[in-house]
Amino acid sequence: AVEAPPAEDINPNDIFIAVKTTKKFHQSRLDLLLDTWISRNMQQTYIFTDGEDEELKKKIGSHAINTNCSAAHSRQALSCKMAVEYDKFIESGKKWFCHVDDDNYVNMRTLVKLLSHYPHTQDVYIGKPSLDRPIEATERLGDNKMRPVNFWFATGGAGFCVSRGLALKMSPWASGGHFMNTAEKIRLPDDCTIGYIIESVLGVRLIRSNLFHSHLENLQQVPRSELHKQVTLSYGMFENKRNIIHMKGAFTVEEDPSRFRSVHCLLYPDTPWCPSHVVY
Ligand code: UDP
Ligand code: MN
Repeated sequence: AVEAPPAEDINPNDIFIAVKTTKKFHQSRLDLLLDTWISRNMQQTYIFTDGEDEELKKKIGSHAINTNCSAAHSRQALSCKMAVEYDKFIESGKKWFCHVDDDNYVNMRTLVKLLSHYPHTQDVYIGKPSLDRPIEATERLGDNKMRPVNFWFATGGAGFCVSRGLALKMSPWASGGHFMNTAEKIRLPDDCTIGYIIESVLGVRLIRSNLFHSHLENLQQVPRSELHKQVTLSYGMFENKRNIIHMKGAFTVEEDPSRFRSVHCLLYPDTPWCPSHVVY
């Protein structure tokens, strides 16, 4: 599909990017994103959190959305946030819904390029599967009846996108309070619930993309020469070791442990705080 001509001429403003965060990560994670990729994409980025933060409002105004969901890392709290993300996207009128975590870097140029290969009016669900097989779940049908269901889902920690055409079809299971009820029916996290609605309920297949990355994979394996082609990146810990992309960049690992500042300087070398004499 990458070599095919664009199906649609879209621009960054056609994309709604929802960043999921929680109050305790506003400084440790969100500030890094606000300094880097979000600074170039204020108009299309919306931050979904669970507490008031005047500093955050000063930076991004009404795009800081307090979901009033619980700040716990529970299934219910995370589904509550996803439900608000979905409703705000529908309200926005934009063509594409993309969800990311607060430990993701988004390369908007490649995201626009990727999505332009698909018509937003059709059924499109794109991301990276988090398992190498469909998840096996149990659907609760009421009257104590249960049914096994198998479906693929895109891992929320790598980011995923849904076209407006598909999002509108999801409405009976996703809008208002319905998303929380649907999540309870299968008792799985928010990103699995999205996959369940799309694959199991609506019968639409996940489109796999290797351009989305979570810290559940070995990020060292993203080739240095292809960093600028990726749509999302991440950082984190794996088996007690730092899991970060491998790059020589503007900053050392000590100065820039996530590597996001170095990635940002690679993509936007005219950024004032990027050193001007780095050869990449
Ligand atoms: N998160 C949240 N509430 C919490 C804990 C985490 O909304 O109580 C968000 C966090 O901001 C991030 C996502 O959930 O966007 C995943 O959290 P984290 O990266 O800590 O865990 P992971 O599942 O990736 O190991
Ligand atoms: Mn994470």
